[in-house]
Amino acid sequence: MANKGTNVCVVKHWQDAPKLDESTLNDDLTRHFYYTLGRDRVGESQLYLYHALALTIKDRMVARCRATNLHLTSKKTRKAAYLSLEFLMGRALGNAVLNLDLQESTALALKQYCSELETVAEAEHDAGLGNGGLGRLAACFLDSCASLALPVIGYGIRYEYGMFNQSIEKGHQIEQPDNWLREGHPWELSAPDQACRVKFFGRVDSYKSKQGRNVRCWVDTQDVLAVPYDVPIPGYKNGVVNTLRLWKSEATDEFDLNEFNAGSYSEAVARKNMAEQITMVLYPNDSSENGKELRLRQQYFLSSASLQDILNKWVGQFGAEFSDFAKYHVFQLNDTHPSIAVAELMRLLVDEYDIDWDKAWSITTSTMAYTNHTLLPEALERWSVPLFSKLLPRLLEIIYEINARFLAEVALQWPGDIDKQRELSLIEEGDVPQVRMAYLAIVGSYSVNGVAALHTQLLKAGLFKTFYELWPDKFNNKTNGVTPRRWLAHCNPALSELITSKIGDEWVADFSQIEKVRRYYDDKTFHKQWQQVKYQNKERLSALVQARCGVEFDPTMMFDVQVKRIHEYKRQLLNVLHVIHLYDRICRGDVEGFTPRCVLIGGKAAPGYYMAKKVIKLINNVADVVNQDKRAAGLLRVAFIPNYNVTAMETICAATDLSEQISTAGKEASGTGNMKFMMNGAITIGTLDGANIEIREQVGADNFFLFGAHAAHTDQIRSNYDPISIIAEDENLKRVIALLESGHFNLFEPHIFDDVINAIKCSTDPWLVAHDFASYVDAQNLASKTYQDSKTWTRISILNTAASGNFSSDRTISQYSNEIWRLEPMQ
Ligand SMILES: *Cc1c(COP(=O)(O)O)cnc(C)c1O
Repeated sequence: MANKGTNVCVVKHWQDAPKLDESTLNDDLTRHFYYTLGRDRVGESQLYLYHALALTIKDRMVARCRATNLHLTSKKTRKAAYLSLEFLMGRALGNAVLNLDLQESTALALKQYCSELETVAEAEHDAGLGNGGLGRLAACFLDSCASLALPVIGYGIRYEYGMFNQSIEKGHQIEQPDNWLREGHPWELSAPDQACRVKFFGRVDSYKSKQGRNVRCWVDTQDVLAVPYDVPIPGYKNGVVNTLRLWKSEATDEFDLNEFNAGSYSEAVARKNMAEQITMVLYPNDSSENGKELRLRQQYFLSSASLQDILNKWVGQFGAEFSDFAKYHVFQLNDTHPSIAVAELMRLLVDEYDIDWDKAWSITTSTMAYTNHTLLPEALERWSVPLFSKLLPRLLEIIYEINARFLAEVALQWPGDIDKQRELSLIEEGDVPQVRMAYLAIVGSYSVNGVAALHTQLLKAGLFKTFYELWPDKFNNKTNGVTPRRWLAHCNPALSELITSKIGDEWVADFSQIEKVRRYYDDKTFHKQWQQVKYQNKERLSALVQARCGVEFDPTMMFDVQVKRIHEYKRQLLNVLHVIHLYDRICRGDVEGFTPRCVLIGGKAAPGYYMAKKVIKLINNVADVVNQDKRAAGLLRVAFIPNYNVTAMETICAATDLSEQISTAGKEASGTGNMKFMMNGAITIGTLDGANIEIREQVGADNFFLFGAHAAHTDQIRSNYDPISIIAEDENLKRVIALLESGHFNLFEPHIFDDVINAIKCSTDPWLVAHDFASYVDAQNLASKTYQDSKTWTRISILNTAASGNFSSDRTISQYSNEIWRLEPMQ
């Protein structure tokens, strides 16, 4: 077992960590470049220079990481583990340089190689270990935890292949594997000595212990090794470096002896593949149906390895005595993906450490906390009982036992009400019974939170209504946030510099201070500077759009942007309908007072999501027609940017004028893209959904372009929805649909958009596209008119940045820490 604690020799105290000054940095950079990497020339790609710089900076972080670990092990310190199947980290270099305050010294060091940070940074591959918002949230949270000096460790999976790379061929999405580790990952440090074993398959034996207790024993299992790889997470200029521990699956060294003896040595070795498959690839489904066995294996693999790791450390320090374990630990479950951890902690405590059920249950239910991320029923995870029983037989037994005890509680609360028991059971009845993972998470946790005020309210009133009646105090809201380090200081250096020149630089660590920018909302020179910065950023984005899409964007035009996963509820389709409407106006010569626009749309569709892929095709076809039509020149440009990811967003959000947040009300749990845009001075056009509501409250109704149905009315609207007559009665929409039906955007591809058109016209369209079209066009017209008054637009833009203080993930994490985790900062 790890951490026996004998003969620990602290080789180098953290205070002897490599210095951050230019001259030592220089020396180390040179040493890594010439010796660690064995190079003598900087190549075209600057790959080795990037590696040398990353290793140099990692040295500095590893040393400081030791200080954090020392703090955690030298005394009993309460700490949190953030369990997530996804961490969408993006690039690390620029962020590390910013947080460690190495900007000047790296610039000087790189000068010696005739290079600069921006160029070297381009050699880094995004760590795309997530799908979208949920994974990026986890990454922002890690930055905030380290920056607030909170003892939090992230646990995730080291996927060999992250989120697929998207390219566009003839308007269609093509997926390519993301081999992000091919050129090496210089930030990580493996710790093979801390590997642990995760069990699968097998069966459950039982025997009587000496005390006469009935003991369950999971045997004949096929074990997989979980090997940890640690990624350092630097806090912002506070000397703290936390850890993200990513697990890689490997085969154990045991060979199947029978096969070996039969001369099947090679076959036995080939079995290694089975184990290594577990962490091979990230599932690219965002908010959509799952159910693949390999995915359940990933979830259990992460949960089991992470819990064993924490228990190993505890036992290594304090022995197998768990009476005050819960005082020092909390596990935050990022969605239901790691919710099997509830049952796994029970298994480890009861089976491996011989703790009785009630005590183990008390430990579990005072250390687990669950964050819900979606209201979409198709995204609620359920696993079939037969699959569970085959893959994780002992875990299924434990879930049954949890359920039996829980249903007894339900029976006490609602005596004789069998329907209540059926409704709340962790096992859904049916042809193939299913385990309801969200219910397991709720029953096993002391905290259940939603991610925006509306979302939490809808959870309490809808999806989890009865659980809320049973345990009202468990439920709470934690509105999402994004880190102002990456999403303003790093990605928008020009705006950061301008802001700092006015209000000082404390806003980077204390983002509530961004409110001071408001003082300048009417200042003429400030307006001019603000506009210049935006223009500069728009030039940067134009260059990117030119390179990736071959479309020319004019930075004097309004930049209207929607980037996020492609999903029907996010309504990229509504955006396209508006673009077609603008094009139709141009074609019929209705261009009096027209505000020239560049419309940018980007995002990945889940590979099996038919409708989302059709929408990508439609966007690309409309873009082709518009961009080739001479009448639209100087008035309308449309582009679909391929392979939207964190790095692309860094350029995009800094350059956006109008941020499209147009989901059907009640469907977007929070959104975080909306917050990145707001921080960078974009104005939102949006529905009353997710965190948009709070954004609008903060900035004021006059500084937000609102449209669309309210969440409270959508069910009523759906109950007698008649899009055909809506289309017939709206001249604009009628023309748009007619243009689509005429095949104008698919002249040589007949009928390819029929399903999309029919979805809009369908009386059961859950997304209410036709319903919201007219009010969307009105809001767009107001946005256009406002943009022409550059003074008013600039004022609103400044007010948006000034009002974004609440959407820092520092605020979110402070609330998690104070209200759920109850942690003390490490300094
Ligand atoms: C912020 C972000 C998201 C989430 O965007 P939403 O608009 O909230 O859906 C998704 N992907 C990437 C790469 C992001 O940076």
